[in-house]
Amino acid sequence: MNFAARKPAMMKLLQEMVEVGSPTYDRDAVNRMGAIVAREAARLGANLETVPMQEVGDNIIARWGEGDGGILLTAHLDTVFPLGVLSTMPFYEKYGKVFGPGALDMKSGIVIMLHAIEALQEQGRMPKRPITMLFNSDEEMGSYKSRGLIETIAKDHALTLVFEPCEYLEGALHTWRKGTGKFSIKAQGKAAHSGGAHEKGLNAIEELSYQVVKVQQLTDYEKGTTINIGSMSGGRAINIVPAFAEADGDIRFKSIEEYKRVEDAIKKLTPVLPDALLETKCNLNRPPMPFDSTMEETFDKAYKIASAAGVKIKAGGSGSASDANFVSQLGVPVLDGLGTVGEGFHSEDEYFLLDSLFERTKLTAALLRDW
Ligand SMILES: [Zn+2]
Repeated sequence: MNFAARKPAMMKLLQEMVEVGSPTYDRDAVNRMGAIVAREAARLGANLETVPMQEVGDNIIARWGEGDGGILLTAHLDTVFPLGVLSTMPFYEKYGKVFGPGALDMKSGIVIMLHAIEALQEQGRMPKRPITMLFNSDEEMGSYKSRGLIETIAKDHALTLVFEPCEYLEGALHTWRKGTGKFSIKAQGKAAHSGGAHEKGLNAIEELSYQVVKVQQLTDYEKGTTINIGSMSGGRAINIVPAFAEADGDIRFKSIEEYKRVEDAIKKLTPVLPDALLETKCNLNRPPMPFDSTMEETFDKAYKIASAAGVKIKAGGSGSASDANFVSQLGVPVLDGLGTVGEGFHSEDEYFLLDSLFERTKLTAALLRDW
């Protein structure tokens, strides 16, 4: 199968999806993106279901065939880029790289999914097993709304393939991912004039700063645990002792035990300054996806199928999480990183390697046919 011959159709579809734009918070825009995907899946003979969602765009399910032992393919419709970004970040291809907002993460993954099906159909090699595609609308904000649907559908399938892109140019699949959590720390002090009544004030920024240092030190690189206070605010003017300050942070971890250690430490924070008050919140978002025995077996099987199709795949991991984290928790075999290979995630420099578009489509077709 010559997948590079599919380039004109693949790039045309990709350009349309990139240029329509689909920031998570813009429900109408995400639905316009969903309509393109639904149109393409319908053209390939899928049974379509639109799952209405509150506040975020609708989720779309496309199904080919019925029965047990099916394969689920998932991708997200949303991106992190606002609609106006196209004027400074247009869609284009140069020297084998393809640029544009969301081209890498993960609209090229959607092109791969649809073209793998189309290629199999053209050759009369569509597998007998059912194939389901799930397109969710809020992945970039944590999939809070669509998590339940992803888990329900994944449980009914023998394998889930996630088309997130590969973050580094080695192009390894994601066979482990860290979990993610977030936290906030609020410090309450007492306002006073910085000149006339300094001693009567209680500086909330000073209090919070002590806590920030303590929390950052919970990072343990050896265990793969990182803490990042990513934003901080407080105070109103330099001549007022600030009564309030807040910091928000992100936690990444390879085991739930590590998350619990950090959560516990954050909950137990006590004020350093007399009379200061602290309020903390800590939430788990995605549990970690470990390289466990299920993952090892799944990767081994994929490796053999890929090799037979002439595609070399590698196993790798990532400090970022995806919807694959939810699926792996269910004990359902899952492989992630089947999207294109590229760099510059969530930045204006985001691009993917054009060759990887064809190779990953070949790989996907082989996995669907031979699993
Ligand atoms: Zn993504």
